[in-house]
Amino acid sequence: MVYLDPEGDQNFNRMLVDAGHAQVKDYTTNEFDPYDWWAGEETPEPTPTEAGKYVGSVKSDKYHYPDCQWAKKIKPENGVWFASSEEARAAGYVSCGVCKPP
Ligand SMILES: [Zn+2]
Repeated sequence: MVYLDPEGDQNFNRMLVDAGHAQVKDYTTNEFDPYDWWAGEETPEPTPTEAGKYVGSVKSDKYHYPDCQWAKKIKPENGVWFASSEEARAAGYVSCGVCKPP
């Protein structure tokens, strides 16, 4: 964790996420909870990696559009991003019946 001031008001890690240069990934083996950074504010949606277009979860075999109601229930640490539906299918995922990605 990097703060730009001694009081800890300027969280550089959060600035990187807010500016779109980084995404939240919560490693649970430490005392930091990145979701605390937006305490009292709206927590950002999980963001796709470079070429991410569809998202699935390590806990299911469905892939979704990122704005699908089910995609939003996927925790960032469980998200698996695909650049194309072909890539998702090749990984053994099937199209979500709700958002119906190709
Ligand atoms: Zn879906």
